[in-house]
Amino acid sequence: MVAQKSDWLCINCGIRLGGVFGGEFYPDVPADKLRTSGPNLVVTCPECGQIKTWFTADPVVRAVYQLVNAISEVAARSMVEQVGRAVNEQSRASNSQKFT
Ligand SMILES: [Zn+2]
Repeated sequence: MVAQKSDWLCINCGIRLGGVFGGEFYPDVPADKLRTSGPNLVVTCPECGQIKTWFTADPVVRAVYQLVNAISEVAARSMVEQVGRAVNEQSRASNSQKFT
């Protein structure tokens, strides 16, 4: 399989911001012109300041990000449940100590 190669140009001034190889974006701008927005990459044109977003097209990457989000949500929820249960048990224990 030959990876497709294409230039990714600024939509305003037309300078090259990076290249796309096999569906992946390889930026060609200084690091301070790059920032991430979730799985997407926001590129600021160093020439004219035009902002262009590279949307991650890879469905595997998207699925992984969704999975990570789902896992951390579930983990956070079960953590809250466990802490709540521990607090309840503690207050029940201290209550029974008071009354005995
Ligand atoms: Zn530009």
